Amino acid sequence: MAEFDVDLFVIGGGSGGVRAARIAAGHGARVMVAEEYRMGGTCVIRGCVPKKLFVLGSHVRNEIADAAGFGWTIPTPSFDWPTLVANKDKEIARLEAAYITNVEKSGARIVKTRAVLEGAHRLRLATGETVAAKYVLIATGGAPNHGAMIPGIEHVISSNEAFNLKKLPKRILIQGGGYIALEFACIFAGYGSDVTVVYRGDNILRGFDGDVRAHLRGELEKEGITILTGCTVTAVDKHGEEFTSHLSNGSSIASDQVMFAIGRHPNVANLGLEQAGVAINPANGGIMVDHFSLTSVPNIYAIGDVTHRINLTPVAIREGHAFADTVFGKRPVQVDHRDIPTAVFSQPEVGTVGLTEEEARARFSHVDIYKATFRPLKATLSGRDTRMLMKLVVDGLTDQVAGCHIVGDGAAEIIQAVAIAMKMKATKADFDATVALHPTAAEELVTMRTPTARHVRQAAE
Ligand SMILES: Cc1cc2nc3c(=O)[nH]c(=O)nc-3n(C[C@H](O)[C@H](O)[C@H](O)COP(=O)(O)OP(=O)(O)OC[C@H]3O[C@@H](n4cnc5c(N)ncnc54)[C@H](O)[C@@H]3O)c2cc1C
Repeated sequence: MAEFDVDLFVIGGGSGGVRAARIAAGHGARVMVAEEYRMGGTCVIRGCVPKKLFVLGSHVRNEIADAAGFGWTIPTPSFDWPTLVANKDKEIARLEAAYITNVEKSGARIVKTRAVLEGAHRLRLATGETVAAKYVLIATGGAPNHGAMIPGIEHVISSNEAFNLKKLPKRILIQGGGYIALEFACIFAGYGSDVTVVYRGDNILRGFDGDVRAHLRGELEKEGITILTGCTVTAVDKHGEEFTSHLSNGSSIASDQVMFAIGRHPNVANLGLEQAGVAINPANGGIMVDHFSLTSVPNIYAIGDVTHRINLTPVAIREGHAFADTVFGKRPVQVDHRDIPTAVFSQPEVGTVGLTEEEARARFSHVDIYKATFRPLKATLSGRDTRMLMKLVVDGLTDQVAGCHIVGDGAAEIIQAVAIAMKMKATKADFDATVALHPTAAEELVTMRTPTARHVRQAAE
């Protein structure tokens, strides 16, 4: 009888777990994947995909408004939230089914149940069965933080519930200043809700380039979103269908929904990590791993959001693939976590890769900044009051482009291609040598010739 029931037991059927299971099965491993909710995980079921579908639909409002300047007369449009939610649900169900088919086709077996560790090689399923596994991969992802237990916290929804609201709120208060909070602010505003964003810091998008933060805030405010910074929600009252949020600055705001998007925590609780000896990273609360995603236990690996490194789907997928190749493909692979492009699907969008100006100035002695803000061509006829931001952060000594930051339509699509150039260590001279594609917004990236700022750090005396 075999010593182990399976070669690999994957806890979590999300982006990372599914990729790891399929690749490991392809390498000949006997694989079992446990998923307690729905296959596909956060990204497919209540993250990137439904979010982007909602974003795409929310843009239609501005498209219709902009059409008049191009000569179109559009009869008064109307929008039906339940239709959007039902169509989104259909697409998510289709994707979930595709995930299940693809995992099963690879030869891995799915068990639709919660699994926890009882030891380094032993898993207990919620069905009562136990499974002996040679290797274990923890890919349990993360979940929304609810923050402090303020009075009325039970009335507050997270992004999970926002995807399935029965009706579009006329007014919504969203607490949070990160990408999820802002994306939902733009989604709801796009469909016609009156949106207030409350954020405790001094400006939205902490950790992003300072110019991006300032520019996006201005654009969101022009879109009619109210942004209150330097305050928090301290209590929420419910009266019938309406809520009153009390803020730390003494004011209160009435709305039909209150949503918090104030961060996410790794799913590490009640997983049996202590029984198995898996250590938590004290710096971020995620599972501690090395460059190969190996935990403190030699046969247990962890990938994706549960490690709280860079919480993005393509990163979880990369880490899952690298794990499977390393352990079952006899090809040790480390994931390079540098220069990962990322977007905020706000309206307008943000696309960014590499260092912010602030990070570059802390790292390099010489930093050149190339920055342009301009009115996009479309806005000239639509009359929309919007401006686009393009910014390059360059290491002044090597001429290498260290960061690129864009706010405006198409920013996410543009930044994906810029990230390739940066991965190839493109210099500003390489950008300059590239002929512009006219008329586009992206041509600005290869036509900014003169630095708008030059920072030179004096050597400490
Ligand atoms: C609203 C929102 C928008 C997002 N937008 C983007 C975006 O635009 N781009 C992007 O790159 N990323 C985005 N993300 C982040 C992205 O969804 C995550 O980084 C990604 O899903 C992480 O994959 P994962 O495999 O680590 O975990 P998940 O996809 O979270 O999968 C973990 C799975 O494990 C299951 N599970 C947990 N515990 C157990 C257990 N004990 N037993 C069995 N199953 C268990 C869970 O049910 C879940 O299905 C978004 C996230 C949110 C919330």
